[in-house]
Order: sequence, then C-alpha cells, then structure tokens
Amino acid sequence: MNRPDMLKRALAHKAPWAFVIVGGGATGVGVAVDAAARGYRVLLLEQSDFGKGTSSRSTKLVHGGVRYLEQGNISLVMEALKERGLLRQNAPHLVSDLAFVVPSYAWWQAPFYGLGLKLYQTLSGKYRFGRSQLLSKKETLQYLPNIQTEGLRGGVMYYDGQFDDSRLLINMVATAAEKGATLLNYAKVTGLTRDAEGWIDGVIAQDIESGKEFQARAKAVINAAGAFCDSVRRLAEPKTRPMIAPSQGAHLVFDRSFLPGDTAIMVPHTSDGRVMFAIPWHGHTLVGTTDTPITEVSLEPVPMEKEIDFILTTAGLYLHKKPTRADILSAFAGIRPLVKAGDGSNTAALSRDHTIHIDQSGLLTITGGKWTTYRNMAEDCVNQAATLAHLPEKPCVTRNLHVHGHHANAKRFGHLAVYGSDAPAIQQLIRAEARLGEPLHPALPYCGAEVIWAAREEMARSVEDVLARRTRALFLHARAAIAMAPRVAELLAKELGRDTAWQAHQVRAFQELAKGYCAG
Ligand SMILES: Cc1cc2nc3c(=O)[nH]c(=O)nc-3n(C[C@H](O)[C@H](O)[C@H](O)COP(=O)(O)OP(=O)(O)OC[C@H]3O[C@@H](n4cnc5c(N)ncnc54)[C@H](O)[C@@H]3O)c2cc1C
Repeated sequence: MNRPDMLKRALAHKAPWAFVIVGGGATGVGVAVDAAARGYRVLLLEQSDFGKGTSSRSTKLVHGGVRYLEQGNISLVMEALKERGLLRQNAPHLVSDLAFVVPSYAWWQAPFYGLGLKLYQTLSGKYRFGRSQLLSKKETLQYLPNIQTEGLRGGVMYYDGQFDDSRLLINMVATAAEKGATLLNYAKVTGLTRDAEGWIDGVIAQDIESGKEFQARAKAVINAAGAFCDSVRRLAEPKTRPMIAPSQGAHLVFDRSFLPGDTAIMVPHTSDGRVMFAIPWHGHTLVGTTDTPITEVSLEPVPMEKEIDFILTTAGLYLHKKPTRADILSAFAGIRPLVKAGDGSNTAALSRDHTIHIDQSGLLTITGGKWTTYRNMAEDCVNQAATLAHLPEKPCVTRNLHVHGHHANAKRFGHLAVYGSDAPAIQQLIRAEARLGEPLHPALPYCGAEVIWAAREEMARSVEDVLARRTRALFLHARAAIAMAPRVAELLAKELGRDTAWQAHQVRAFQELAKGYCAG
C-alpha cells in the first residue's frame, strides 16, 4: 500500500478497467477484494480516507442481528450468522467472541429471549460462537450489579462477535492490493463519462492532494458511496429520485470502570423501542446507538444533544456507575444509508437487506446491508456487475480468503494484536529505535512505531488518518488524541517529506475536528 505508486498506476492505465468503484468503505473495499481476487482489473477511488464514512463509526459488532430474529426474518439472520463465522475464520486477529447479557423484567422476557437466543445459536450451525444460557437474578446481578433490581427476574447470556471496523477495512485494502487492485484514497469522483450510446463508461476524478483531474474508463462503474450514493447517482442523472433515507446513530465512549469485565450488555427495547449495546472495546466502554432521521449527509456527522442525553440516561440504568457528561471520553456519530422502498422498475432487490440498483445509464449502485455482511454483498455485486459489463464469469473465492494480517494467535502481540501478522514488523521498528515504542499518551497504548507503519505501509496521509482510523485514539479518548497530534504530525512529516508549516496546519486541522468528539 503506497499512495504515490497507486496514483501512478491509476494514471498509467489507459485501457478500460473491468470495474471502477466509487467509495472506500466496507462496501466498496469488499467489492474490490472480491473482484480483484476473481482476477478482474479494478480501480477504487475514495474521496477522503478509507473508512472516513460510516465504516469507522459502527458499533463494532459482527452479528447476526437479534432484531431481525424478532421480526421473523430468519433467512437474513442465517446469512449474517454465516458471514459472522466466515469473518472470524478469515480475520481472527480482528474478530473475537463476546458474551452479552440481556436482563429480563417481565415474566415473559426470560423464556422469550431465552428461546429466541437458543434459536439464534442453532441457526449459526457450524459457525456457532458460544452457548446461550438462562441466568438467575443473582447471576444477572453479578454481571450487571448496578441495574435496577425492582422487578428483575433474571437474564439471558448469548454470544456474538466484536471487531475493530477501520482496522479491518485497512487490512481489506491491503488484501485487495495484494490481489492486484489499485486503490486510491483522497481521490474524489466528480463526474461520469458516457459512450456514444449514453452508457456510463468511466469516471472523472480529482486527486485531492494535487488538485489535478484525471479520467478512468471502465466496463462498469460501481457506486458504493454509502450515504452519499444519491449524489453519485445525480452525477449521471441530476433529476434522479433518491434511494436513501439517511439516519444518524451516535455512540459514547467511557473508561473501562463503567463496564469492567469482558461481558457486554444488550438492551432489546429502550424507552424509544431501540436496541442498545454497551460493550467493552479496546479497554474502554462503548455505548450506543441511537437512530435519528436526518436530511443532510455529512462526512463528519456530530452527535446531537438529544442523542447524548438519551444515551447517558439509558446507560445509567445498566452500567456499573451512572455516567455524566464529564465522563464522556469520545462521542461519535455515523450515518446509516437506509434504502427507501424502490419504485420497483429496475431495482434488483435481493432477498437480503442490501440493495443493488442499476440506473438506466448503467451505473450500478450497491448500498444498505451491514458491515458483517460485506463479503456476501460484494459477491452479489460482482456477479451482477460482471453480467452488466459482459465480462467472462469468474467464480467468487472470498469464502476462504484470508484477510491481510490473518494470524491465529495474535493476542500474544499485546496491544499490537490488531496488526496480526504485521505486528512483528512493527516490533522490529521498536527494536531499531526504542523511543518509537513509548506510548504517545499515558491514557492510550499507541506508540510512534505505529505512526511510521501507518505512513509507510497503510497509506495514512494526515494526522487524522493516523489518530482516527489506523489507530483508534480519536474514537477512544478525544482529548488524549488532541494531545498526541503534534508528535504524530512530526513523525508523519518526516515520513512523507513535509515541512513545519504542514505540521502546524495538520495539528490545527485535527484539533478543530476533534472538538466535535469532545462532548463532555
Ligand atoms: C451508528 C451505526 C452503527 C452500526 N453498527 C454496525 C455494527 O455493529 N455491525 C454491523 O455489521 N454494521 C453496523 N452498521 C452498518 C455498517 O457500518 C454500514 O453498513 C457500513 O459501514 C456501510 O459501508 P459503506 O461502504 O456502504 O459506506 P461508507 O463507509 O460510508 O463508505 C462510503 C464511502 O464513499 C465515499 N464517497 C462518497 N462520495 C464519493 C465520491 N464522489 N468519490 C469518491 N468517494 C466517495 C465516502 O467518503 C465514504 O468513505 C452500523 C451503522 C451505523 C450508522
């Protein structure tokens, strides 16, 4: 992964690519991995950094979706449970089992959730994570000592998966690159080109770093722009009807003492009828999410006051201590690209919660779904795109394809475990210069060697790329991340050949952005 090389490859390729993919989130990068692994020539363009959109802002669960089970959508749950198992098999350094406790108050809740979660476990078949079990009131209180005891009858324990979303994404970019794909961050698609018949045959893009425009031709253009997919569709047809009804979800992060231990909490029905999770994540406590319809989409959504208040109140009913605003270490929001009911004419609505839509111009849009099912979404998408582009059929090979970094026992690398098989190379950097092993802030484990690694091997271009997505400092502890920024800028500048004015600008820009994460 090297941006100057990727850019050179993108500019030098004059023949049509099989596919040009717009958007470097889970969906687009998943498609790039699938298509490149089948042997198609692929270019992916991301307007900002990989994962800048929703894909770094999830609840970090690899799950079948207990909510879909309640809705009776068994096939969707089975598909997601299978994908959950495949993801743990293919990226064990980033996906782990997590036990959840569901407290029950009404008489019917324990048998209802108990049976439901038994079914959840059965549906996962050979991809099972752990055995669900009923808990007595006493056992439930051992896990959740602070919950309201009045009316408490007991609880249910079940298992799902947990991951680090942007780390997985970066490893997927590396996987696609190893399979021959060209992937470019900071390259925005600004226009679409058409052939003599009016069929979309390529994109016009801007290299955000140099400001220069370039064109890329394609047999099919795949729009994987998430919450922005309607704006890409409007590049083809300005009056097109929107597919997306965006909805914002927010999360708050607290220190570990709010949820000590290794067990998460799932609240199936909050006061507004939503599911809420409180999970241990990277030595902290992550609580969310909300669901608020919005009209404008933004690359940097900010949690609303009412979302923060709602999470604080609900979390206070379940965590070890009632959190206050002053306890919030980071607050972040993401946008769900919910698909509106289509007009039916040419929407290939699949029997899952993602949608593949082909506009009259031939632009293929894939959206909806969830992180957990990205692989399956990509398989569907590449099958359809290959047919659309009249390309020879090639079988999908991602079911057993290891994600870059695959390592069966990465825990032994301590806090570098998320790098999997790359961890020894980072340890080598520390051996060569011991100072690079020192934490950049006492509250977080991240060290200078990770900054160097991110710049050299993972296409990090800015302080934000390092602190938000290569490491998770901004999402775990925004004020610590602000304090780390000057040293990160200094290390990055050395790696990328930038001057002190660049460093100062980077620090200012990051500090401004990070204010949006400091809700306390
Ligand atoms: C709050 C919340 C919590 C969630 N939690 C979970 C969870 O725990 N587990 C789970 O499985 N799923 C979860 N999901 C769902 C999951 O996060 C999303 O389904 C997934 O991240 C969507 O990925 P995407 O690639 O489609 O979109 P995005 O990640 O938003 O990527 C789209 C990309 O397109 C780029 N782009 C846009 N326009 C252009 C252009 N013109 N040129 C180039 N690039 C462009 C954007 O910059 C962006 O990076 C959650 C979603 C939300 C909102």
